[in-house]
Amino acid sequence: MVIVGGGIAGLAAAWFLRDEPADVTVLEGSPRLGGKLTASEVAGVSVDAGAEALLRRRPEGTDLIKAVGLGEQLVLPGTTASGIWSRGAVHPLPPRQFMGVPADLDGLAASGVLSPAGLARARQDLELPPTARDGDVPVAAYVGARFGPELVDRLVDPLLGGVYAGRSDELSFEATLGPLAAAAGPHRSLAEAAASLIPAPPAAPADGGEPAPRPAVFTTLAGGLGELPAAVAAAAKATIRTRATVRELARTQHGWRLTVGSAADPEYLEADAVVLALPARPAARLLNGVPGASAAAAALAAIEYASMAIVTLAYPRSRFPATQGQARSGYLVPAVERQAVKAVTFSTVKWPHLAAQPGRDDPIDIVRCSIGRIGEESVLQRDDTDLVALAAADLAEQTGAQGPPVDARVTRWGGGLPQYAVGHLDRVATIETAIAAQPGLAVCGAAYAGVGIPACIGTAQRAADRIRDFFIPE
Ligand SMILES: Cc1cc2nc3c(=O)[nH]c(=O)nc-3n(C[C@H](O)[C@H](O)[C@H](O)COP(=O)(O)OP(=O)(O)OC[C@H]3O[C@@H](n4cnc5c(N)ncnc54)[C@H](O)[C@@H]3O)c2cc1C
Repeated sequence: MVIVGGGIAGLAAAWFLRDEPADVTVLEGSPRLGGKLTASEVAGVSVDAGAEALLRRRPEGTDLIKAVGLGEQLVLPGTTASGIWSRGAVHPLPPRQFMGVPADLDGLAASGVLSPAGLARARQDLELPPTARDGDVPVAAYVGARFGPELVDRLVDPLLGGVYAGRSDELSFEATLGPLAAAAGPHRSLAEAAASLIPAPPAAPADGGEPAPRPAVFTTLAGGLGELPAAVAAAAKATIRTRATVRELARTQHGWRLTVGSAADPEYLEADAVVLALPARPAARLLNGVPGASAAAAALAAIEYASMAIVTLAYPRSRFPATQGQARSGYLVPAVERQAVKAVTFSTVKWPHLAAQPGRDDPIDIVRCSIGRIGEESVLQRDDTDLVALAAADLAEQTGAQGPPVDARVTRWGGGLPQYAVGHLDRVATIETAIAAQPGLAVCGAAYAGVGIPACIGTAQRAADRIRDFFIPE
């Protein structure tokens, strides 16, 4: 069988299928495995250039890491306390919120993120009559109706932007904030709906000491999540081919035929089963050639992607006062602030193992700046030198970073993140129905049920189950 796409979803699918009697071949179009997972050195420190943090709450990521022998490499963050650049200063993220939707309006007030007028409007959520919702709506429409536009602009939009590089006036309430959309039904107030999803703050112990700290939300690998693809590939025992772009998929009498490589020099492969572990557009192109799959192809082609760049900067610690003595992993910058950088991660604060640099008198601070949201592609047309200068200028203003960075890396992610726009869940249902009618075919990856790594691995597991069922019909 053949898996098309050597990102984490495709490699995980290969791993889940490792004990099947049929040989598994992974075909990856680019010269490198891993898709959005890759690490390289900046100022001698190995840091992720794509995904860098893994949600621990969902088990699929950490389970796979342990299963492929990297469990000992898992490390925890020094802090996940984060901030928002708003109205000229970095404020702490309000303490109890669900993707920026506050469960605690007093905590929101104390954070200082909103103006007094914005806060007064947000408090109206507690008194307003229920907000009617007939089907899916943009996040901004529903959350804005409850709390007003300032809370959307300064909290919800930047938090969603951090995950999807998307905009809350287009992203789907049901697909991106599913649990909150479900909880909104029975609750008149959206703050109360958010509170029903967030565990109460830990009670102080009877002896008056500090409450027990909450378990860390994220984890990573000491060498970066970029180490994961090779480990999964090795454990999967599959045949792995890079520079093997699949150009066409066709049904044959007994299975599938894949056309691989350039149009001038094509190679044809036969497979009894195929998993498409691809972004939506290439998956749509391949499905276009499959009779009966046109509805899936059309639904996939309708999924837009946002492009972005990660600009990783290195500063001698003495020139980067923002990280000293601070317990903040970074901050988000709302689009309404009109800055180039939309998110900043103080990597050497968030991940203390990166800060341990024995032998360096003035250790290096690594700062990861994220640039680009959907609809803001023009900024990404600047060359690397310009992007570094833009990021360094924003950092100088927001954090007091002194002088130019001593090293920099620009990683461009063209079409990096799928947009779960209004109606996404219906599109995914259409795709699943059409694929279910194709024996020996499955799809997985970030386009469907969550862009985070654990969610992608979850789709890979379901794709592998489907292929296994195909080989052993009931
Ligand atoms: C900058 C950035 C930061 C992120 N940060 C985080 C984070 O911190 N935590 C987190 O959980 N998630 C994060 N994500 C999201 C997450 O990394 C991705 O959603 C996930 O890795 C996608 O995996 P995938 O296998 O579905 O797709 P991809 O990684 O896109 O892999 C698909 C592969 O298919 C290949 N391909 C495409 N077309 C063809 C073809 N025709 N033939 C053969 N191969 C083909 C591509 O080259 C690619 O390697 C981030 C994403 C980005 C872009």
